[in-house]
Amino acid sequence: MMISKKMCGKLNEQIAAEFSAAHVYLAMACSFDQMGLKILAKKFLDQEAEERKHAMKILRYVQEVGGTVALQEVPRPHADYTDAQAIVQAALESEEHIARLIHKLVALAEEQKDFATRSFLNWFVDEQVEEVSSMNDLLTLVRLAGNNMLQVESRVRHEMMGKS
Ligand code: MG
Repeated sequence: MMISKKMCGKLNEQIAAEFSAAHVYLAMACSFDQMGLKILAKKFLDQEAEERKHAMKILRYVQEVGGTVALQEVPRPHADYTDAQAIVQAALESEEHIARLIHKLVALAEEQKDFATRSFLNWFVDEQVEEVSSMNDLLTLVRLAGNNMLQVESRVRHEMMGKS
């Protein structure tokens, strides 16, 4: 194995954290759908797929360096959001949490002089800057819109079309 046992354990924890984040996004997408906010539901479903890709990226890395993948339990996500703003706020907190976990992994890699894992994690460091920033933008938008969620829907739809 090209990584330490401790690093392998922490990477397995990160796989679980990414799958948990995916599950949280799925629950949020369902809440948006129930609120009739179909565009936000679609955006959060896309986020769910992203998080699963993150989990798989780490899973493949663990395999590549000869570690053992040990899947963990995915906790039941919150489902009792009061409004759209509460959902976006919780999504931002989830992204900030994931960013902190990634930074802890980076610190461990540096402590262990595990330069391969340190390099692998760079992509995730950059990715989290983007994720936190874009969720922050969405929260600002939702706050500005107040009760006019259709305006948010229209703006998010526009952004999503620009991406594809
Ligand atoms: Mg992620």
